[in-house]
Amino acid sequence: MDSNAEKILVLATGGSIAQTSPKDPTLLGDALVDGVPQLRNIADISVEQIAQVSSPDISVEHWLRLARRINEVLAGNDVQGVVVTHGTDTLEETAYFLNLVVTSDKPVVVVGAMRRPYSLGADGSANLYNGVAVARDPNARGKGVLVTLNAEIHAARDVTKTTFNLDAFKAPDFGPLGYVNAKNGTTQFYRSPTRKHTTTSELSLGCETLPRVAILYSYVGVTPDLFEAVAAAGYKGVVWAGTGNANLPKVIRPAASEAVKSGMAVVRASRVNCRIVSRNDEIDDDAFGFVTADSLSPQKARILLMLALTKTADPARIQEFFDAH
Ligand code: ASP
Repeated sequence: MDSNAEKILVLATGGSIAQTSPKDPTLLGDALVDGVPQLRNIADISVEQIAQVSSPDISVEHWLRLARRINEVLAGNDVQGVVVTHGTDTLEETAYFLNLVVTSDKPVVVVGAMRRPYSLGADGSANLYNGVAVARDPNARGKGVLVTLNAEIHAARDVTKTTFNLDAFKAPDFGPLGYVNAKNGTTQFYRSPTRKHTTTSELSLGCETLPRVAILYSYVGVTPDLFEAVAAAGYKGVVWAGTGNANLPKVIRPAASEAVKSGMAVVRASRVNCRIVSRNDEIDDDAFGFVTADSLSPQKARILLMLALTKTADPARIQEFFDAH
């Protein structure tokens, strides 16, 4: 290994990329890296095991542990970039959380696999290789947390899992930031994120845990008791995954308004893929005290709201966070 090679830290958390059976992940991060000998030609890699779970079981505690370790190692001069291996089900949520709380502009790249290591055409090794190729690329600095699968490089804010195929991760609204040339591992960027992230983020890891925020999903015939139940359960915030422009049926509005009056933050996000929620359109957000999620999916809006609630409960200030991040 060239002594000048970039030092890259791989933080493993589990997921299909590490699953040797349909059940739980068993391959440790070291084995994942050893399984791709070509990696040793492009970087000086160290590995740590942060967790070993299927990503539906990833928790806020895992997020906090991951973010603290990343901020710790990237604050030093030794490590130039981090690659996180993760299950694909909640990969976009972990990537967006890190995008808001990582305090370095060095590359942090989240990768996963749509096929398990023993499957024909398994994609884990190539995705891990590409993840390291991106993490060691100086052009990846300052672009926020990145996600790479299927040789596409996505911004954590924009990417979402859309199918069960190898090209599952897409950015329906804005497209990828760039690509990894699978032939030679070179990376090519064509755009940069415009919203605040990492070193420009106004959000941080200020506390031991995060306020509880629920997501309520709209559908024909939805009833207001859901809002009352969430308020009664002590949640500090609700993301309403509404239809179209994140709409609330009239029958729901009094309960949502009561929730705001009781001090709970209510964010309108859309259940539609490819959406930008416009404020004060069908719904008078100013009058109700609602926050609108712009182009964030309900699951990402929840993350931004959890972090915003560690700073303020003021809907106007929370809206500023949503408009900037
Ligand atoms: N259920 C798996 C997980 O998220 C799926 C995957 O990794 O592709 O952990």
